[in-house]
Amino acid sequence: MSEQYDLIVVGSGAAGLSVALSAASGLRVAVVSRGVLGLDGATCWAQGGIAAAIGSGDSPGQHAADTIHAGQRLNNKSAVRWLAESAPDVIRWLISLGMQFDVVNGRLALGREAAHSFPRILHAGGDATGAELIRALRDAVARQPQMDRYEFTDVCEILKAGEKAVGVLARNRRGDLIRILAPNVVLATGGIGQLYCHTSNPSEADASGIALAQLAGAETADLEFVQFHPTALAPIDGDGNPQLPLITEAIRGAGAILLNDQGMRFMAAAHPQAELAPRDVVARAVWDQVSRGHRVYLDARPLANSLRARFPNLVQACHQRDIDPRVQLIPVVPAAHYHMGGIKVDLHSLTRVPGLYAVGELACTGVHGANRLASNSLLEALAFGKALGERLAQRGPVAPITRVDPPAGHAVRAESANDQMVLARLRQLMWNDVGIFRTEDGLQAALHQIQVMERRCLSGAPVLRQLLVARLMVEACLRRRESIGAHFLASPAMEFSKPAHGQAVA
Ligand SMILES: Cc1cc2nc3c(=O)[nH]c(=O)nc-3n(C[C@H](O)[C@H](O)[C@H](O)COP(=O)(O)OP(=O)(O)OC[C@H]3O[C@@H](n4cnc5c(N)ncnc54)[C@H](O)[C@@H]3O)c2cc1C
Repeated sequence: MSEQYDLIVVGSGAAGLSVALSAASGLRVAVVSRGVLGLDGATCWAQGGIAAAIGSGDSPGQHAADTIHAGQRLNNKSAVRWLAESAPDVIRWLISLGMQFDVVNGRLALGREAAHSFPRILHAGGDATGAELIRALRDAVARQPQMDRYEFTDVCEILKAGEKAVGVLARNRRGDLIRILAPNVVLATGGIGQLYCHTSNPSEADASGIALAQLAGAETADLEFVQFHPTALAPIDGDGNPQLPLITEAIRGAGAILLNDQGMRFMAAAHPQAELAPRDVVARAVWDQVSRGHRVYLDARPLANSLRARFPNLVQACHQRDIDPRVQLIPVVPAAHYHMGGIKVDLHSLTRVPGLYAVGELACTGVHGANRLASNSLLEALAFGKALGERLAQRGPVAPITRVDPPAGHAVRAESANDQMVLARLRQLMWNDVGIFRTEDGLQAALHQIQVMERRCLSGAPVLRQLLVARLMVEACLRRRESIGAHFLASPAMEFSKPAHGQAVA
């Protein structure tokens, strides 16, 4: 028995819910997600905000120029222009759904961030933008009778009929395999941070969407471009959870500095802007210290009097680790944060597989090029998701599925202790060799080890998805022979900065 819909959306973050809500007035929609709708995935963790050129003197053209500058001109210029022009409409749509953005004197408050040349970042609840966005999207979903939810359901495989995607095979909350069929399948499964042993991303961001699409015949692009955030709160020893709380860059903007365990302020020597250098420069400098055996700390003591009011999330995260940031140093490590690459799609979010679409962090529209401009990722997920949903709704219901090829049996086993062990080894390998500093030798060694792990896994093991994506990422790194954007290929002379294989770095 299979349920039939007009549209299946896999993922309930900003991207998935935008597609589903925009399509739901005309189509029967199923939304499938790993946890509680909207509350799983990265969206509800987003802090900073959503970029849109709506301020006085600003323009979509300037927003596009900043995006292309950050992306080192490797961006798809048409996608960037379309995104920047769509942004004001996305904000109006969110307001119409009930999202409460922060306002000052009755006008939308606009913050200025990183390499944006104008104040154009809209936020909600200060640094709780993602939580408010998800609240508004969930409330809107609750008003849609045409939408069915499949929560705590893991999609294992895209079902096909010949060349065309016609549904998904998934494991539901009871552990049963189920088939859900539709002529349109949208993947919105988020990022890949969980392939690394330190990440800002939640457990759902484990790259499974890239594997699903690639195994169904879709192409990947720009997989080598992973953005690392320089400062996440260092893990508690022995805690295997790779997700770490982010420490916002705004705190360095306010005057906090980085020190190593000898009290040395190493950023002053690394870049003329010291702690305010670009994100990737700071991340590399922190990595360099850690890989030389130093611990790295953020010193926020000069801000002691204003910390609680200005950075409440940081204070709370520190307290959970028994750190009082007013009088103590805060231990930090860099963390995998955002994936610019993913499943290659056209401007209509279509992969090369008919009927299969990808949106949000999973997709590579080419908007970000070699590096993401801050606050463009929620915008991309919302803009491309909304446009895709509207297009599918306009097309209207399509004939039901009458033919499905037998599944290939990818990832159909229940997760085992062995999957967990292999994943832990993979994370360390990715961190050491496919992380902030990469070398040709390290990448070749990683490729070999991943291939060995793949051969040793039982067919149908869920971890094969992570191994596949990791291998594709290493292969993409090896093809990109120069350092650009977030891909930093160290020369042999710099190899001393890399930890030995298998050595934990934090
Ligand atoms: C701490 C943090 C702060 C951030 N701050 C900002 C910010 O201020 N501004 C900004 O623009 N961006 C920010 N980002 C990035 C941004 O939040 C993400 O890029 C964006 O939310 C991704 O949205 P998405 O819908 O593509 O995926 P997600 O929101 O991650 O949703 C993925 C969905 O896919 C589901 N899923 C995954 N695999 C499967 C599977 N196999 N089967 C079924 N379901 C599956 C998950 O359950 C989830 O529902 C931040 C990210 C983090 C982690």
